[in-house]
Amino acid sequence: AKQKGRNRIQFTQADMNERVEEELFLSQELVNALAMNQLRVAYQPIICLGTLGVAGVEALLRWQHPDLGEVAPDRFIPLAEDTGLIIPIGEWVLREACRQLLAWEEAGQCCPRVSVNLSVAQFRDSNLVSRIVGILAETGIPPGRLCLEVTESTLASDPELAQEVLGSLRRVGISIAVDDFGTGYSSLAYLRQFPLDVLKVDRRFVARIEEDGDDAAITRAVITLARELGLKVVAEGVEKNGQLRLLRQWACSEAQGFLLARPLWGKDIDLSRLLSGLR
Ligand code: C2E
Ligand code: CA
Ligand code: CA
Ligand code: CA
Repeated sequence: AKQKGRNRIQFTQADMNERVEEELFLSQELVNALAMNQLRVAYQPIICLGTLGVAGVEALLRWQHPDLGEVAPDRFIPLAEDTGLIIPIGEWVLREACRQLLAWEEAGQCCPRVSVNLSVAQFRDSNLVSRIVGILAETGIPPGRLCLEVTESTLASDPELAQEVLGSLRRVGISIAVDDFGTGYSSLAYLRQFPLDVLKVDRRFVARIEEDGDDAAITRAVITLARELGLKVVAEGVEKNGQLRLLRQWACSEAQGFLLARPLWGKDIDLSRLLSGLR
């Protein structure tokens, strides 16, 4: 990119071509990633702040490319969404997550719930609900153990569809979380319009609750709002002890973040021993 005029950065044609080529390359590589066994699911524990036990885990997709190394989800998920690959990939993540839950169970460990991210493209897939119900039946996971995370923009992009899909999922017994709560442009009205179970306070707010009065006020308000509406609230991106202390003081129900646990491979998580250090 070249500096042009006053503080304006202009991307040259060459930069643009390079970006487009890189995305095209990644998209093509992604087509084979599933078949080539390059995808894995990591699990990040979500901690109950009352008991400091594991309330659940969030399934997070990982792509290990043979030449490029690990490609970050923020880079490849948007491509998977654009190409429609997120539909088979998302289904695979869900099946993997259900299998992991069973594997823990067989090892004598209990994970109360598994949360799986759902993208807007999956939402528009008319077979979504029957596929999910099929995977639950196939693996024998009770629907109440599954939570699906959707963003505000997914809800806002087609509210009628969202209401219908969430309604069906809810009737089956699956719970619904709003991811990155407070960062979208949707109105608070949807909190009563949609059947929801969990609000996840985005880590952009949580990051500065110790230093920034506004971020602290927003986080406290979301916690109160969730409680009054009978929803659970998960604080995301907890990295510091001071943040954890405040969140417990504000009676936030659950938290997730590097301080508590990083995303790990299923076999490396010991669900019973996790937080001995914090007790
Ligand atoms: P997300 O759903 O908001 O997931 C939480 C992200 O925050 C994860 O990034 C996690 O590793 C990161 N994180 C957790 N604790 C901390 C912390 O204390 N500090 C910081 N700085 N980060 C923390 P990750 O795994 O890179 O995923 C990024 C995004 O990619 C996710 O954001 C989600 O939107 C998307 N994603 C990941 N897996 C899937 C998937 O299977 N399906 C779909 N549709 N999207 C996915
Ligand atoms: Ca999420
Ligand atoms: Ca999030
Ligand atoms: Ca995010």
